[in-house]
Amino acid sequence: MSSVLRIALQKSGRLSEDSYQLFKECGIRFDYGTGKLKSISSNFPAEFLFLRDDDIPGYVEDGVADLGIVGENVAVETNRQVNTIHKLGFSKCRLSIAILRGNDWSGIQDLEGKNIATSYPNLLGTYLASQGVTANIHEISGSVEIAPSIGLAEAVCDIVSSGSTLLSNGLKEVETIFRSEAILIARPELPAEKQTLVDKLLFRIKAVQVAKNNKYIVLNAPNHALDQITSLLPGMKSPTVTPLATEGWSSVHSVLNENEFWENIEAIRAAGAEGILVIPIEKMIY
Ligand code: ATP
Ligand code: MG
Repeated sequence: MSSVLRIALQKSGRLSEDSYQLFKECGIRFDYGTGKLKSISSNFPAEFLFLRDDDIPGYVEDGVADLGIVGENVAVETNRQVNTIHKLGFSKCRLSIAILRGNDWSGIQDLEGKNIATSYPNLLGTYLASQGVTANIHEISGSVEIAPSIGLAEAVCDIVSSGSTLLSNGLKEVETIFRSEAILIARPELPAEKQTLVDKLLFRIKAVQVAKNNKYIVLNAPNHALDQITSLLPGMKSPTVTPLATEGWSSVHSVLNENEFWENIEAIRAAGAEGILVIPIEKMIY
């Protein structure tokens, strides 16, 4: 029997949409939604399981699933024997300690002997121990932010992205203890034929990620400024330059890293480039 990769994804939550989108961009089709708990891809040997995110590391450790997508926070908190094989760059957030807005803060030692509510007792416990602080950790599974205002704890340790939830509960962030993003995890010992499929999948994921970090750029340049402009556009090998019908002008095509984009685009314009088009790239393979 030919092998099929079993991939565990969050059923519905802050990882789901981007996880589904990632497979779509990798050209792997499957149905999801409307209460489905599993789905087989129509064009890649993969079966998808839709689960609560907390359960995914355990399923991957046990080999029920070969791969899974979870937040690093959950992977570390659950402390299962799984391998992190790739960082995915979405669902970025941080785990932070927050206290009531009106209270003073001079440092983590302020929490000595205090009560802290969290859904991440392991991550918090490890952090406090590394800081030499002993506190009482109260594990609660949700609505952690309410704990200080009802007198359950003096502080909370919870996931933050924009900070608006903290703000609306009268809290202020005082210490970040962990930074997280979505990761692809794998069971420890994959059979060779499944490893081949994982490699195939990783190749596609990397091509999609590289493409997202780059833009295709097309512009018109006066010939006298070509050297200067092409030196600002190194491209994958070197830029493509073709003459325009208008005498003395050329069309220049290249690929530019997103991070360098704004910085270089100004220098390129200053050198005399016109009609600059910036186009997203769907896949990029070196
Ligand atoms: P489930 O019902 O599957 O157990 P959940 O409520 O535990 O879901 P979500 O809130 O959907 O979890 O968050 C899933 C993961 O997304 C978190 O573990 C974290 O890594 C990341 N995350 C959480 N909050 C945010 C946020 N505000 N912005 C970005 N990423 C976040
Ligand atoms: Mg969860």
